[in-house]
Amino acid sequence: MHVSVVLFTSDLRLHDHPPLRAALESADAVVPLFVRDRAVAAAGFDAPNRSAFLADCLTDLDAALRERGGRLVVRSGDLVTEVCRAVTEADADEVHLAAAHSAFAARREDRLRGALEAAGRRLFVHDAVTVAVPPGELTPSSSDHFAVFTPYHRQWEQVRLRAVVGAPRRIHVPDHVRGEPLPVRDDVAGVSPALPRGGEAEGRRRMAAYWRRGLDAYDDTRDDLAADATSRFSAHLHFGTLSPVELVHRARRRDGAGAQALVRQLAWRDFHRQVLAARPGAAHADYRTKRDNWRTRHTAHADIEAWREGRTGYPVVDAAMRQLRHEGWMHNRARLLTASFLAKTLYVDWRIGAAHFLHWLVDGDIANNQLNWQWVAGTGTDTRPNRVLNPVLQAKRYDPDGTYVRRWVPELAGLDTPLLHEPWKLRGPERAALDYPDPVVDLSEGLDRFRRARAAQR
Ligand code: FAD
Repeated sequence: MHVSVVLFTSDLRLHDHPPLRAALESADAVVPLFVRDRAVAAAGFDAPNRSAFLADCLTDLDAALRERGGRLVVRSGDLVTEVCRAVTEADADEVHLAAAHSAFAARREDRLRGALEAAGRRLFVHDAVTVAVPPGELTPSSSDHFAVFTPYHRQWEQVRLRAVVGAPRRIHVPDHVRGEPLPVRDDVAGVSPALPRGGEAEGRRRMAAYWRRGLDAYDDTRDDLAADATSRFSAHLHFGTLSPVELVHRARRRDGAGAQALVRQLAWRDFHRQVLAARPGAAHADYRTKRDNWRTRHTAHADIEAWREGRTGYPVVDAAMRQLRHEGWMHNRARLLTASFLAKTLYVDWRIGAAHFLHWLVDGDIANNQLNWQWVAGTGTDTRPNRVLNPVLQAKRYDPDGTYVRRWVPELAGLDTPLLHEPWKLRGPERAALDYPDPVVDLSEGLDRFRRARAAQR
């Protein structure tokens, strides 16, 4: 009997899964394997919200496999060792895996290939599973990757995507390959109270619902903080419970401004991945350094804590930081303005903010998080690296009637707008009665500090 192993990583779905399709086509039996890689935990990347969401995803994947006559084999330990063990137990000839694009994933893949080849087995790595257009497929004439989004996007739009692959009907898994119990969401401590549910079934429900009720208005409503009208696909894309290729195909069939705008955001996702694949160091070091002399944990401790806790005295910043803790997710506009506030107005090292986001975000993703932080900090791919978002103007524009701030900062709920966005303007007993901090920084002083710092480095 010919057996293949399919190693699931950040592609936890059965629909549109080319590695699984290839394994089923070449083998009589397949071992669907997920390894809880201890290196991920050692790197601190198994934050509670993502661990809980992952538990949902694995439970759902196992259930979907069982409906088709199979099951998911889960193991823990060193990924390469565990895959090799499963291969030996199953007497498998080959392993199928989706390509991933961080330095960590590249090292892991190299080690796995070496170990399998030494044992006389083969590794097949499939592209366009976790991205629509793989890194390296598009390159400008002068470099190995695109450093600016607009020309990248122009070419990305022209790429002919592979066809969507249907979910399998039946899967035969050899009985004797052992697994361990699935992780359970409720066993994870420190999870956000309103963390969304994970899993492919949930992802597909969300996709269908958004197609019915959200997509057409996306372009008009995606910056409206209170409307909360974006897709919320991000965690499903991070864990691969939705396929980016399938999403792009479906959106293109729909057409209209909303669908086009969503496809453009999916291109941003691929853009950041091709930057990270070409410059893995950008996960930690400035992509385009401005030689900033950032404030740090030692020099800006109180400001950083106020930002983390949602007690900066700027209501829209505080609302967003509280949403992050409560839901494990934050609106894109809110990510932009809170990141700008930390890195530019408070002039704190972007890595400190990125680490806080990575701890809480259920969609926390090295490529998207680190490179968006760098974009905002002006050390990344933004062509206007010194722009600073003013949190009061942002609040008035994207939360004009204050609904978003009232939702997350209840101590200000009784204030009328626009005072709600500038509570420091209150005077006398009303101000004294408010249980809300004064601003940690004066906006014009923050702006001056940032401009002086950048000018000094020129
Ligand atoms: P939608 O607006 O519905 O967009 C659909 C999809 O497009 C998203 O799910 C996402 O996969 C992709 N997308 C949208 N905007 C971007 C973008 N700017 N860059 C890359 N892809 C994008 N996104 C993450 O997935 N993980 C992160 O860790 C992350 N960290 C961020 C940190 C900062 C400082 C900023 C400014 C943005 C970050 N983003 C991150 C990008 C973006 O904010 C989220 O993808 C988006 O808010 C998720 O909500 P949604 O799925 O409703 O997005």
